[in-house]
Amino acid sequence: MRYRQFFDDALTRLRDERRYRVFAHLERDAARFPLATWHHDGGAVDVTVWCSNDYLGMGRHPAVVGAMREAAARYGAGAGGTRNISGTSHPVVGLEAELADLHGKPAALAFTSGWISNLAAISTIAGLLPDALILSDAANHNSMIEGIRRSGCEKQVFRHNDTEHLEELLRAAGPERAKLVVFESLYSMDGDIAPIGRITDLARRHDAMTYCDEVHAVGLYGPRGAGIAERDGVMAEVDVIEGTLAKGFGTLGGYIAGDTAVIDAVRSYAPSFIFTTALPPAVAAAASAAVRHLKASGEERARHQARVADTKAALLAAGIPVMANRSHIVPVFVGDAEACKAASDRLLERHRIYIQPINYPTVARGTERLRITPTPFHDAARIAELTEALREVWRALDLPTASRYAAIAAE
Ligand SMILES: *Cc1c(COP(=O)(O)O)cnc(C)c1O
Repeated sequence: MRYRQFFDDALTRLRDERRYRVFAHLERDAARFPLATWHHDGGAVDVTVWCSNDYLGMGRHPAVVGAMREAAARYGAGAGGTRNISGTSHPVVGLEAELADLHGKPAALAFTSGWISNLAAISTIAGLLPDALILSDAANHNSMIEGIRRSGCEKQVFRHNDTEHLEELLRAAGPERAKLVVFESLYSMDGDIAPIGRITDLARRHDAMTYCDEVHAVGLYGPRGAGIAERDGVMAEVDVIEGTLAKGFGTLGGYIAGDTAVIDAVRSYAPSFIFTTALPPAVAAAASAAVRHLKASGEERARHQARVADTKAALLAAGIPVMANRSHIVPVFVGDAEACKAASDRLLERHRIYIQPINYPTVARGTERLRITPTPFHDAARIAELTEALREVWRALDLPTASRYAAIAAE
């Protein structure tokens, strides 16, 4: 094929920039979570996964798997088409009611992924406001940036979690201009948390609408697992809450919750909602089961936070440079792309521990890291095993210790 060279060149560019991604071939084991079988070079070995976004292990929860199995047997494997063509399946109706209730909003709308929900919702909401100005946090996720881009609206970026900068921009825009403030509640690479109450206060004072991505918080925070806004008692102040069903809820899909007119407008105008096949009933049923379970049970959340605290304490005591935050993310500083990949490889090959390297463009160059996400299933023995493994890797590769990292961070 005469066009092949273009693709080869594109891949070479990625390799030259050390950005070429290699996916580990992993077979998750529901019965032995967080263990998985790693397939490589014709062999297969058990590894402990330490970087899953199935934060609570809900993907293997008997109630969730049972709901999926039962719904698949009852309704079949697929949705049968878009909701326009096939109607809305019974489990999706139930799921949307569950999600609206979770966030204390009158309505919710489910999408095939969180990524699509941000693209569809942000572009449609901003696009329906006359001459809207979008104020976007500098650290917002790719899916939000794509939604902003697609809206065609003017965008101004405020410094990450900087409410003074946000206020400046709100004030400069003036009271007449339609304004949409777009931000996340919990940023997944640093694990830092947005001052949601301060942001919604400002938005109210300057008559702006707010849109908050709670993807890394739903299921995990708040008395019923609705996220950081619920935990902070400001859920009612956020106009639109976006979440995923694929992380804390362990399945697949995304959603928004908010005012009925807003939700109905997105349902009616967003091509990435209208022209794609709906979530399969079995996925919707499984997601509903996860949401329902975590509304009633705080046990997973409590154990999760305890394991996270234990992991951070153990690593810090071993001189491993944990990047400080107040969340369930345990980022460990490496500061170099090559070294980060080498550390990840050594953990996997020598220690049977899987932690994917996080390099540019996911994080800024010079802040490359391992992103560790303990679950309620990472017990004391596993935490001790992880600590020893990291100690060995840090020594072997001469990686920055906690004290060297503190010096770098202070610069
Ligand atoms: C993962 C992620 C998404 C996308 O959610 P999916 O359900 O995985 O498509 C959206 N926002 C943020 C901040 C994310 O990290």
